[in-house]
Amino acid sequence: MSRLGFRIEAEAPGSQARAARFTTLHGEMITPIFQPVGTQATVKALTVEDLREVGSRMLLANTYHLMLRPGPEVFAKFGGIHRFMNWDGPILTDSGGFQIFSLPHSRAITEAGARFQSYVDGKMHLLSPETSIAVQKAIGSDVMMVLDQCVPSTVSHAEAERAMLLTHRWAKRSFDARGDSPQAMFGIVQGACYEDLRKRSVDALTAIPFDGYAVGGLAVGETKSEREDFTEITTRLLPRDLPRYLMGVGTPLDILEAVHRGIDLFDCILPSALAKRGTAFVSRGKMQLRRTAYKFADEALDANCDCSTCTRYSRAYLHHLTKADEVLGWKLLSIHNLVFYHRMMAEIRASILDGTFAAYRATRREAWAGTDEDTPVRTGKRRRPGRISPDSSVNVGDHAELVLST
Ligand SMILES: [Zn+2]
Repeated sequence: MSRLGFRIEAEAPGSQARAARFTTLHGEMITPIFQPVGTQATVKALTVEDLREVGSRMLLANTYHLMLRPGPEVFAKFGGIHRFMNWDGPILTDSGGFQIFSLPHSRAITEAGARFQSYVDGKMHLLSPETSIAVQKAIGSDVMMVLDQCVPSTVSHAEAERAMLLTHRWAKRSFDARGDSPQAMFGIVQGACYEDLRKRSVDALTAIPFDGYAVGGLAVGETKSEREDFTEITTRLLPRDLPRYLMGVGTPLDILEAVHRGIDLFDCILPSALAKRGTAFVSRGKMQLRRTAYKFADEALDANCDCSTCTRYSRAYLHHLTKADEVLGWKLLSIHNLVFYHRMMAEIRASILDGTFAAYRATRREAWAGTDEDTPVRTGKRRRPGRISPDSSVNVGDHAELVLST
């Protein structure tokens, strides 16, 4: 029996998009839902009061970072992450698998797990299905993820199959390690860009009674159209009556297209990572506040937005804060960008419920056409020549590390 009680309220005609509800240990959630990323038990630059104000309901936190610092013993002492960070809404934790995959050196993957060197103190750690789940239990997340082996989506069939089979064995060990904990758990479908492997992965994982399924192994090297195709191939195979999660994706357009293909849950660092670079999502695309054109601009950031940033501060002030690299600029743009994402999710949901999703999708696709160049790329490499990471303070594998075109 699913621990989330997922129930579909409406499905969009001519689409796999659906609006649903599910119940966590910290309240009922409505879908589609976007989760801001709170890697280090904080969504960067924002307080939990800010998060409530912008409309965040559920957060993602990263097991890999939190097991190294502050450590599961601190969460055990506080009775979990909710009290520790003063957030009373649900939290989903990833397993650390993606972060391990992202480590350029110092890792060895065996049947037992992934052995790696801590970036905090240099000590060696073993991240196994059992240790990942033990840490996620100490963190006390509402939804835990199984440990998986992530490989680039461009690997050979043989390599993708090997990683997928290991992922299935780790999924069973993760499930067994949960025991009678009331925390929900999602399996992660792997299989890179091979349709036969995706099918085998769904078959193997749906034999285990998980509470939901993530579409894994995407946004790691494939093209945008491959990502959309393999999202759809996977969601068509997954059970209709359980939640589906696309990890680390993405831009507003990516999310809209994934909802159309049957995804319910999302997370991405994009709203805050772009805010740090001085970029705001606006009605017609994106605005780069660093541009000199805004030096004397007295108007609001986005005339169509009623967030606390748009109603109180001019483009000129946001331009100045951004140019001066002031943390307040990051904060004010994070507030606006998260309001933009949450408002979009609310609009998507409303359009599914009232039967107008197809029209909404068409309108948005037209408005955002050509403005979607910041599609996040989850990569094992920290940087690529000619590209920059928007957040040089982001530790490797910060879910999901972005590499953006300059
Ligand atoms: Zn705004």
